[in-house]
Amino acid sequence: MSESAQAESRPFETEVRQLLKLMIHSLYSNKEIFLRELVSNASDALDKLRFEALSDPDLLKEGADLAISVEIDKDQRRIRITDNGIGMTRADVIANLGTIARSGTAEFLGQMTGDARKDAQLIGQFGVGFYSAFIVADRVSVESRRAGSAADEGVRWTSDGDGEYRLEDITRSERGTTVILELKEDEAEFADVLRVETLIRKYSDHIAFPVTLLDPEAEEPRELNSATALWTRPRTDIKDDEYKEFYKHLAHDFADPLTWSHNRVEGKREYTSLLYIPANAPYDLWNREAPRGLKLYVQRVFIMDDAEQFLPLYLRFVKGIVDSSDLPLNVSRELLQQDAELTAMRGALTRRVLDMLKKLAGENDRYQAFWAQFGSVLKEGLIEDTTNRDKLIRLLRFASTHSESQAQDRSLDDYLARADEKADEKAGQKQDKIYYLLADNHATALASPHLEALRSADIEVLLLTDRIDPWLADALSEYEGRSFVDVTRADLELPASGEAEEKAAEDEHKPLLDKVHKALEDRVESVGISRRLVDSPACVVTGNDALSPQLKHMLEASGQSLPESKPVLELNVGHPLVRRLDAESDEGRFASLAGIVLDHALLAEGSPLDNPAEYVSRMNRLILELGNEIDNSA
Ligand code: ADP
Repeated sequence: MSESAQAESRPFETEVRQLLKLMIHSLYSNKEIFLRELVSNASDALDKLRFEALSDPDLLKEGADLAISVEIDKDQRRIRITDNGIGMTRADVIANLGTIARSGTAEFLGQMTGDARKDAQLIGQFGVGFYSAFIVADRVSVESRRAGSAADEGVRWTSDGDGEYRLEDITRSERGTTVILELKEDEAEFADVLRVETLIRKYSDHIAFPVTLLDPEAEEPRELNSATALWTRPRTDIKDDEYKEFYKHLAHDFADPLTWSHNRVEGKREYTSLLYIPANAPYDLWNREAPRGLKLYVQRVFIMDDAEQFLPLYLRFVKGIVDSSDLPLNVSRELLQQDAELTAMRGALTRRVLDMLKKLAGENDRYQAFWAQFGSVLKEGLIEDTTNRDKLIRLLRFASTHSESQAQDRSLDDYLARADEKADEKAGQKQDKIYYLLADNHATALASPHLEALRSADIEVLLLTDRIDPWLADALSEYEGRSFVDVTRADLELPASGEAEEKAAEDEHKPLLDKVHKALEDRVESVGISRRLVDSPACVVTGNDALSPQLKHMLEASGQSLPESKPVLELNVGHPLVRRLDAESDEGRFASLAGIVLDHALLAEGSPLDNPAEYVSRMNRLILELGNEIDNSA
């Protein structure tokens, strides 16, 4: 077989071309990470070989000592990184090094801004992997042979990082992979032994296989790491930097993790876990189908990535490993699903994460950073995981009428402490409710007429504006014996409302209320006097058992047809506009004005109008009449 018959050039997938360009540009100031990425890939390849050899021991017949070596040629400005791991066939190489097999890559690349700092963050989260070699090299070659295949079944992949790569068949005596970097002229520092040695020591200390440096000037290869899996070492021996490096290797992340928790559990089930909270949400956090979960090892042998059985879906942002001493080595996803003991492990790991978050919550700034990234996901927990409700509800943070900013930074304890302090000051009764308002966004919430009376009574209201909040609100129910109250509900009781007075007011204004109800019969359930308004003429409230308008809009948007439900209209009878309505004797004008009052109440809470065109024509008519009145009086 002639070599040229098997040589070919292929274009990169469009996404790869884009990624290469963006990466070289945005990661330039962190270019040395290519070493971490390549050593990390080599380590993964060794893990995979050891795993496959569990069921096919022949794969190791060329040698069972798994190792990584780095070789430097200063004169040629060349680095070679070799592993004797699983290796790749020609088809593997095409699939792995010519395409990006991750869903959503195109949308992800679309988010790039061209601002190097922001993009570096995004790219870092995406995991730059093998392609980072092109930050420092103007030519990269990969020579590989799959474990178990014949010496003449090797393959060489070469690219200059432009639009295409070249493939040819080669003979390779050793199984595994060598990545060869021809460094750019101004990247000669990476062919400097001392520089590379320092970097590799930093990046490979936690790697469970020996990493050696072959330096042509030195007599002996030098081993650069201790080659013990990080999590097997005692906590007290591990430096923070080592934990951070291990995280970057594990998560293919570029930023430091926010926090971590490392534990060994002994007893019926023995296992070690090392769990991390990332600093940034991945681009596919909202894709509930995206791969998630922990990396599973059994007795230090890598078994699988993305073992999702160990944590609930609402903790999908957690990265880490679990190393079990007693799961069978041949454990599969199916077996994990059926394993009864696993439920207990999952419960324990879940509590571990929640405890880690509780600890983090003691540091306000860092917890805020966590909450901004993952708060809405954690809220799913309160809805789905009733076992841990008590831990979860304490981890929630809210925006409120009494926060200085839009930030969700109030805990329920903050809320109650403030309310109780106020009660003490006035030597009054403790507030037995926790008030909240649902709205589409923060501005709408703050401007909501429903808050007026609460605001004048200086009662704090939590502002719930995340997409998930209508569901969260349903799940909240009570905290520390105080019940949650939606301030837009018809039965809202305010602490200082005097029933007798209200009754008298209802009686006094009954004719007006009846008349408005009659005019708006098709659109409202009933009309009443409002206790929650100060400055606004009217608001709509939701029946006590009806769906909140936010939930209703969302369900309707997702195509569900819901039974028709009409809101309750509340009027502020002291308001000049309502008095003006009361004084209107022309029936047509009365109906028109009443319609506008209702439309405005709906608009103020962010609800859509059933018939916006009719509203506009009513308004136009009114403005013209106003014009006429002004003309007439002139
Ligand atoms: P990632 O490591 O995040 O999957 P990379 O771009 O670094 O992404 O690598 C792409 C794929 O190429 C890997 O998933 C792996 O299958 C393959 N690969 C990379 N380096 C090696 C190696 N040294 N040995 C075997 N396979 C490798």
